[in-house]
Amino acid sequence: MKNDIIQRFVSYVKINTQSDENSPSCPSTPGQMTLANKLVEELKTIGMDEVSIDENGYVMSTLPANTEKNVPTIGFLAHVDTATDFTGEGVNPQIVEHYDGNDLVLNEATNVVLSQKDFPALANYKDHTLITTDGTTLLGADNKAGIAEIMTAMDYLIKHPEIKHGKIRVAFTPDEEIGRGPHKFDVEKFNADFAYTMDGGPIGELQYESFNAAGLKLTFRGTNIHPGTAKGTMVNAAKIAMEFHNALPADEAPELTEEYEGFYHLLSFHGDVEVTKLSYIIRDFDRKNFEARKALVEKIVAELKEKYGQDRISIEMNDQYYNMREKIEPVKEIVDIASDAMKSLNIEPIVSPIRGGTDGSQLSYMGLPTPNIFTGGENFHGPYEFISVENMEKAVQVIVEICKLFEERAE
Ligand SMILES: [Zn+2]
Repeated sequence: MKNDIIQRFVSYVKINTQSDENSPSCPSTPGQMTLANKLVEELKTIGMDEVSIDENGYVMSTLPANTEKNVPTIGFLAHVDTATDFTGEGVNPQIVEHYDGNDLVLNEATNVVLSQKDFPALANYKDHTLITTDGTTLLGADNKAGIAEIMTAMDYLIKHPEIKHGKIRVAFTPDEEIGRGPHKFDVEKFNADFAYTMDGGPIGELQYESFNAAGLKLTFRGTNIHPGTAKGTMVNAAKIAMEFHNALPADEAPELTEEYEGFYHLLSFHGDVEVTKLSYIIRDFDRKNFEARKALVEKIVAELKEKYGQDRISIEMNDQYYNMREKIEPVKEIVDIASDAMKSLNIEPIVSPIRGGTDGSQLSYMGLPTPNIFTGGENFHGPYEFISVENMEKAVQVIVEICKLFEERAE
């Protein structure tokens, strides 16, 4: 199994599939379609049924049930795109056998070193086979590790018909990193009762809570006058914008919060006396607090309008996704089965809230409750990204075990 995983993973990461939020198309970049088409061929080769790809790059397929029992249909999902934070062009994966626990020089020329000092988690990987970057690109374990794991698990189940399971659905989707993954996902066509995204980090991660999320854009309009004769006439847009920002609770920012704490995050501040534009994201796990955060924004804006004039400020605030917990809690057994699957493989489940969103945050509200499971990767979205092959194998076993447990517990 180990060589299969390595071979699959390496072949996927070599295709540049970085998404692009400035592209209106779906998938946003052609590389994603290249990988999606390759996955279609591979799904057919391993013997999956009902393999399909639509014009938007969504790949779906079925592993038919091999039991008479009435088992719910479960899905496994991974996304084909990689992050936009760091280049994904020319990924040249390095395989480190029997990692000795010391610092890893990723690139001698540019002195990129994966060090214990910066990345204490490295200590967990002594004697593992690690796949790293060459220091010049991201790796793309997020989320090609998930694809390799799902593919390998399906291959394994097909080769081991003695393992009984219900109907399994698999989907590979585009544009997760730019938040559009579920936008054109056909939940009805997928037709699963529950699903899991294989899109988490270190071994054991099991997540079913995400932020409630909104985006906020503010435009402040001033009146520019020669500063020598400005008295009583000049209105400085940049200063109203600063006043807005200073009215937000100063300690509720990403760099000052953790665990279940929410925040207002100032993404950008562009402006001058004439026009200033601020862009924020608002995040909170608790729906009431989330609504209160948005209400506070409205209140501050109303006060500033009162002070400077109604047409000085325009506001655009939109919800982006919600905490999937609300939709998963009623079917909590899907989290329990994933947790039991890990325990039966001697993996300690680490149930923690995601300080972000996954495709599952949107899918759960589209009628497909979708918790998230580890892939085994670390340091996503940059040159220090790496993954343990042994932990990828564990993720494959977790998928197989989940399929097994759903069958065992069915009538
Ligand atoms: Zn991901």
